[in-house]
Amino acid sequence: MKRVNSVLLIFTGGTISMTPDPKTGALRPADFETFEKFMPELRELGIEISGIPLLPLVDSSDIIPEVWYRIALTIQENYEKFDGFVVLHGTDTMSYSASALSFMLSGLTKPVIFTGSQIPIGVLRTDAKENLITAIEIAGAKKGEKAIVPEVCIFFEDKLYRANRTTKQTSEHFSAFESYNYPALAEAGVHIKYFHSNIYQPDSECTLRVRTKTDRNIAILKIFPGITEQTVCGVLNISGLKAIVLETFGAGNAPRGDWFYQALKKATEKGIIIVNKSQCSTGTVEMGLYETSLNLLNAGVIGGYDITTEALVAKLMYLLGENGDIEKVKKLMAQSLCGEMTVTP
Ligand code: ASP
Repeated sequence: MKRVNSVLLIFTGGTISMTPDPKTGALRPADFETFEKFMPELRELGIEISGIPLLPLVDSSDIIPEVWYRIALTIQENYEKFDGFVVLHGTDTMSYSASALSFMLSGLTKPVIFTGSQIPIGVLRTDAKENLITAIEIAGAKKGEKAIVPEVCIFFEDKLYRANRTTKQTSEHFSAFESYNYPALAEAGVHIKYFHSNIYQPDSECTLRVRTKTDRNIAILKIFPGITEQTVCGVLNISGLKAIVLETFGAGNAPRGDWFYQALKKATEKGIIIVNKSQCSTGTVEMGLYETSLNLLNAGVIGGYDITTEALVAKLMYLLGENGDIEKVKKLMAQSLCGEMTVTP
């Protein structure tokens, strides 16, 4: 007899689980029981579903790396019992958390699908039910003994994306996420259509390894025309700083002023890792294409290719947490570890 597939829902909060505060009317996470009353219809899916709330449920603006560890450890503890996992999470920082999980869970052979909603589950026009039902179907989908999507992903509205390629693109429309530099892994219409060639296929023999150490001593420096030396040096001299996401123009370009070059060079010589991330959503960083990025190369800045800021933040925190050796972190920053960027020659 065919075994029924099983999926574990891990609740962290977000709009999907929110109700209005009776006094202020502002949305805040409800208790788990309020959410659970919407569960019975999910049982019609023919998938065995269980749920674990990570209390307290939070608005995802309050998510901190400790919540990432708790998600990772919950998956590890339940890995053998379930065919797949759905993480319910607020949309605001979902791309950061889902990216972090893609680094923390190595050797993954089962789906971990993040989803949420733009309207709470109890509201008539909610997008929660469709998102949740399809995310559960994808998390439980198998071909023979193998999971169809053995990756950390985000499912939202009608698209399944590799988590570490996503960005929240709208707070208005139901299609909250976009993956600008990597195609969708699946599309849900009348049927769920999987694009197998876009999906990572791990060796089915690999075993899950969960790594949960992170280091938060990083910063994002977004440059703009007219940025002052005081601002740049203020960020580069933050005490304890280990790495910077440098958000540059176009294909990775920055002002050519000598003070800028000297400030970056001094920082990299002190061992601060600086990664060049373009402010453009699509395209890749090409260090040395223009004179305005040659200086960065000479100052010891590393190119981030087409990675998202969300994945870059998660990758830096994860690599710095796991490695004391700065040279090793720099080497790994230039490699794609789990499909988070396209490394071009
Ligand atoms: N503020 C909410 C959150 O990120 C927004 C949402 O879930 O859509 O938790």
